[in-house]
Amino acid sequence: MDNGLSIRLVIHGGAGAISRSKLTAEREQAYRQALTESLTAGYTVLKEGGSSVDAVIAAIVVMEDSPLFNAGKGSVFTHAGRNELDASIMDGATRLAGAIAGVTTIRNPIRAAHAVMTKSAHVMLIGHGAETFAAEQGLAIVNPAYFYTQHRWDQLQKAIAKDRMMLDHDNDSDTSLADDDQKRGTVGAVALDHYGNLAAGTSTGGLTNKRYGRVGDSPIIGAGTYADNHSLAVSATGTGEMFIRTAAAFNTAAQIRLLNTPIAEAADNTLAEIAAIGGDGGLIVLDAKGNYAARFNTKGMYCGTIANDGVVRTGIFPGELHY
Ligand code: ASP
Repeated sequence: MDNGLSIRLVIHGGAGAISRSKLTAEREQAYRQALTESLTAGYTVLKEGGSSVDAVIAAIVVMEDSPLFNAGKGSVFTHAGRNELDASIMDGATRLAGAIAGVTTIRNPIRAAHAVMTKSAHVMLIGHGAETFAAEQGLAIVNPAYFYTQHRWDQLQKAIAKDRMMLDHDNDSDTSLADDDQKRGTVGAVALDHYGNLAAGTSTGGLTNKRYGRVGDSPIIGAGTYADNHSLAVSATGTGEMFIRTAAAFNTAAQIRLLNTPIAEAADNTLAEIAAIGGDGGLIVLDAKGNYAARFNTKGMYCGTIANDGVVRTGIFPGELHY
């Protein structure tokens, strides 16, 4: 389908202290391949005239199913050795939104967030209630063991030994941590469809070694995810607590809506506010004209974009993904 209007999809697979020297060519290739598959899945939906909401889901499901990212399969472990997943989605045309948090059996949390948005009167469901709802909606339910991966388990043991809540993570001076331990792998997508509608979604396993039912920004509308046709679609990754405290996603949208700030500048302003209170991470942003940016104040962010021409662009390090 081509009516001359622009379509675009932008994705991220987490930001953090990704070190060029520690990222092997093989691993880099694996990430770029996974990002490409995600972009292609979302693009196929958009190209065939599908909605931005469906494109966001298609792109995120690919990354949830990949063990490379901290979402779905491959999610990090809590202190208690469980995988507790969070996700959210928002439709920029209607400002409908859905989210789930702290679930352990839903194979694709982004689908459950979508079901909350479209099949319930609520915005956020948590824990067992969310799982019961997802099962009633016919979504794939798995044994919690499905989410187990050895490298995430090893990360938990390291985090417990250091007695800290790892941000999947970021202490570059800590050479005992492998490259893979030093980045966040939360995933997200923002899309613009043929009808000019925006959507955003985010999915995560949260933080390694998290406790007490901790929930970050990813499932919180206005913090980790936001979409409004009149401003932009945004998905975040980073130190969740600071993204909540700065209302990061809404903060970015509000600058565009109220001040007409260019989108990359708005994202940078938000990241500066986050840095000022000790946080870091990244944002992908997209407006209804197809302008986009992928901004981060960490060493790297796995990200990518695709538009009408169908050309896949992926990036990891600063300056790679132009906007
Ligand atoms: N923002 C996520 C959280 O705090 C973590 C991440 O982006 O990797 O749960």
